[in-house]
Amino acid sequence: TPTIGVLALQGDVREHLVALAAADATARPVRRPEELAEVDGLVIPGGESTTMSKLAVVFGMLEPLRERVRSGMPVYGTCAGMIMLADKILDGREDQETLGGIDMIVRRNAFGRQNESFEASVAMSGVEGGPVEGVFIRAPWVESTGADVEVLAVHEGHTVAVRQANVLATSFHPELTGDHRVHGLFVDMVRAARG
Ligand code: GLN
Repeated sequence: TPTIGVLALQGDVREHLVALAAADATARPVRRPEELAEVDGLVIPGGESTTMSKLAVVFGMLEPLRERVRSGMPVYGTCAGMIMLADKILDGREDQETLGGIDMIVRRNAFGRQNESFEASVAMSGVEGGPVEGVFIRAPWVESTGADVEVLAVHEGHTVAVRQANVLATSFHPELTGDHRVHGLFVDMVRAARG
């Protein structure tokens, strides 16, 4: 059974721990570099990416996180977590750091202008058994992607799920729905990376 951490600086950590356990992983919160070193994969939760980025600096986690993403650890980011995994962001704070990992430009709060929050059925490639219920909360969208990025889901013309090698990201929050198929896909990625 793979051990998967949830970055626990800020955000909806508990919901991801529950979803990962339901998808047959051993799940634990990760706050410190020593804890990061012990996991086979990591989820970056939803929350507030500017705060998460600040706390990553304060907790000495920014470089250790970047290093593990660079060296191929599987990572899955939801919403604020997607923003953290973008090589570039639009409408971020001036000093907002990301880890990078996916060659994409992500626009913060992109859906927020029309709808603070909404749910929509989203067909996601790699997830069997029909569309997932996408919960979007002041959600970002992916504005553009590089050649190595696989687009997994599009909602109303906007890219909302992507994968590049070992890094997966969704604009929406599968951890809030009780449907654990997207976490299942990530657990499979972690298993495959462990060999
Ligand atoms: N708007 C938030 C941000 O910029 C993301 C919201 C979320 O994670 N639900 O970080």
